[in-house]
Parts: sequence; C-alpha cells; structure tokens
Amino acid sequence: MSTLPATPATPSRTVLITGTSSGIGLAAAVAAARAGWRTVATLRDTSRADALRKAAVEAGVELDIRQLDVVDEASVAAAVDGVIADYGRLDAVVNNAGAGHVGTLELESVADVREVMEVNFFGVLNVSKAALPHLRATGGRLITVTSVGGVVGQPFNEAYCAAKFAVEGYMESLAPVAGAVGVSVSVVEPGAVATEFVNNIDLDLEARIAAAGPYSDALRNYVERTVGQFLNGAQTPEGAAESVVEALTAERPAFRIQTSDWARDFTGNKLTDQDGSAVIGMTGTWVA
Ligand code: NAP
Repeated sequence: MSTLPATPATPSRTVLITGTSSGIGLAAAVAAARAGWRTVATLRDTSRADALRKAAVEAGVELDIRQLDVVDEASVAAAVDGVIADYGRLDAVVNNAGAGHVGTLELESVADVREVMEVNFFGVLNVSKAALPHLRATGGRLITVTSVGGVVGQPFNEAYCAAKFAVEGYMESLAPVAGAVGVSVSVVEPGAVATEFVNNIDLDLEARIAAAGPYSDALRNYVERTVGQFLNGAQTPEGAAESVVEALTAERPAFRIQTSDWARDFTGNKLTDQDGSAVIGMTGTWVA
C-alpha cells in the first residue's frame, strides 16, 4: 500500500470579514483561519494591512487580504463577486467594521448622526445584502459584531447606540426569515475591548468638554468613567474574537452572543428591565 504525500489541507469553508486592519476584526480573521476557515480579510484601505499580515505570520495562518469599504456599494460588490469568482462559495460573513462616536443631539448636526448610521448600520446592510444569495446557497452564517450598546443605550453615545440598536433590530427581525431559507443569523455583543476603537474616534476630549456648554460636567463625568472602564476592565480583542469563532463554528449558534461575563451581566440588566427604570437608573449615575 503506497502512502500519499502529505498535502496541506485546503479549507472547504470560506468566510469574509470586514474591518480587519485592527482590533476585533484582525483578531477574528486570524482566529477564523486558525479554526480552519479560508479567511478573506477585508479592509477599506489595504495599505493599512501591515499589522494584519504580521499577526497572520506570527500565528502561522494564511489570509486572503482584499479591499472592501462597507459604505461603498461598488467596493462591496467587487469583494463579494471576487470571492465567488475565485472560490465558488461563501459560507459566512462577519460584519465587524464599525466606528465609535461621542456626541449629543444639541452639540452635533443630524448629518453627523447620519454618518454614524452610514458606517455602523447601512454598511452592515450593504455587505449582508450582497452576501445573502451566496449564504443561501451554502446554508451559511451571517454574523454581525454589534455591541452591548446595541442593547443598552449609553450617554453621549446616542448616535452610535441608535445605529447598533438598528442593527440588532434588523438582524433579530431578519433571523427567522433568513432561517427559513437556511441562513443562520447571529449578533456578537462586546463590552469594552482594548482596540483602536477609542483612538479612532479622533476626538479632542478637553476641547469637546470645554465647548459642551450645559453638558460639560455630564460629558466630563462620562468620559472619566469610560476611560477608567477601558483602562481597568477592557477585554482583549483575541478574547472578543473567540465569540466570533463560536458564532462561526457552533452547531447551532445563539442569535445573541455576549463576548464576556461583564457583557452578559450588563445586557442582562436590560433584557429583564421591562419599564426601563433599571437601565436609566444605572446610566444616570454615569453622568452625575
Ligand atoms: P477598531 O480597532 O477601531 O476597528 C474598527 C475597524 O473597522 C477598523 O479596521 C476600521 O478600518 C474598520 N472600518 C471603519 N469604517 C470602515 C468602512 N467604512 N469600511 C470598512 N472598514 C471600516 O475597533 P474594534 O473595537 O475592533 O471594532 C470592531 C467592532 O466592534 C465595531 O463594529 C465596533 O463597533 C464593535 N465594538 C467595539 C467595542 C470596543 O470597546 N472596542 C465595543 C463594542 C463593540 P480603518 O483602520 O480603515 O479605520
């Protein structure tokens, strides 16, 4: 009996992940590849792929790195069509790309809010719509990284939480419809994660607090509490990415997956709070 030469296993399942230049998306791309998925790691600007490439080399995994800007429908279509042309299938999408935003209604324009919705909500729809026919063909998975802020509204995060609530409402409504055609839908809800998320908000906090007029004290209190939370209790991106892999690989993934015990407890406050008093009582103390 002859022994066949060892050949590298070719992954049979393909996942496309958005926003993999840093943070949870980068860690999820590496973790998915390590879990045996052919991983198409997308970035809106591929010149920012150095950290991703380095992490892949360190982990000994291969990634297929491609351009995808979630707010640019042509770029989304090109990425999804390219995956189908090259691999003939798409088994999962992880909508990870997103951007934070700090503000409040009197201190910003409605156009500012629209911009937040554009990336965090319509960006998710752009990618999901392009992917769904292909996920239907494979009985695949549509996974979206939302936030505990998609469950509990938080001060000075009105626009961000609105966008994440919108994603959660959309996906919770879509789940049974997609399920009827064989596609599983999950949302992954991180709490604070130590990524570029806060730095990417690109915010001169002292200037914003000084310009916040009647909201200055509340904004300062919020910022101090939040910075403390990120410094003392933030989860690692690798830890959050484990929940993405759970959504990819569990036989029957839950619709709603929190990435930490803290996130489970925090969202649990809301999910049992029928009249809203527990949440508003809690978040009120954050600005007082
Ligand atoms: P991050 O390090 O800032 O990563 C965000 C990623 O999204 C970056 O790769 C960024 O790319 C990408 N992105 C932004 N706009 C994009 C666009 N139009 N098209 C494609 N990619 C775009 O932050 P992160 O914490 O890993 O965030 C990942 C997800 O987790 C987000 O959906 C975020 O809302 C969510 N989340 C984060 C936290 C947290 O505490 N960090 C908590 C809850 C939920 P560029 O490098 O080009 O900007």
